[in-house]
Amino acid sequence: MGSESLKSYLAKRDFDRTPEPSGAKTAKQTDRPVFVVQEHDASSHHFDFRLEVDGVLVSWAVPKGPSLDPRDKRLAVRTEDHPLDYRDFEGVIPEDEYGGGTVSVWDGGPYRNLMAEKDAPLSMAESLETGHIEVWLDGEKLTGGFVLIHAKMGGDEKNWLLKKLDDDTADARRKPARTQMKSVLSGRTIAEITDDEA
Ligand code: MN
Repeated sequence: MGSESLKSYLAKRDFDRTPEPSGAKTAKQTDRPVFVVQEHDASSHHFDFRLEVDGVLVSWAVPKGPSLDPRDKRLAVRTEDHPLDYRDFEGVIPEDEYGGGTVSVWDGGPYRNLMAEKDAPLSMAESLETGHIEVWLDGEKLTGGFVLIHAKMGGDEKNWLLKKLDDDTADARRKPARTQMKSVLSGRTIAEITDDEA
């Protein structure tokens, strides 16, 4: 299933030109599945929210980034699955390539599938299929429960909503997507990564 779902990722990229991982080498799967959020200063700035599911990173582009306020509904546009080793990718994609712009590893860590703990347990793949995903994130900036809902706003299949669950980790005052801008991988901001690689 993994390689099948990477077809779209591979078709969009020329690996002679982009420094992104080709997915050719199999990244080590960890004991606990991981999530990663990458800040991506592309033609329009956004955050890429990715969850490891069955050996790939299932991905959404979140224009405003995740919020810790359960009242905020953040548009999350489903994008192509990415290879697992993309979780460590930080660098500059050339301007004329797909997704051209700088990428930083904004947050990441292990996560837990909360739907697997319900009375009628669902795997991540089943949750994706039903369009309702609940996960507990253990990141540096993001911790606690988050929900992704396949709301299909405007009739568009790609449109999901990302929302903080209203648990003890909810915090309407902290705005990590605006105030905590350093990479958890290198401590650099997008501007510093861009300068370093120029
Ligand atoms: Mn992106």
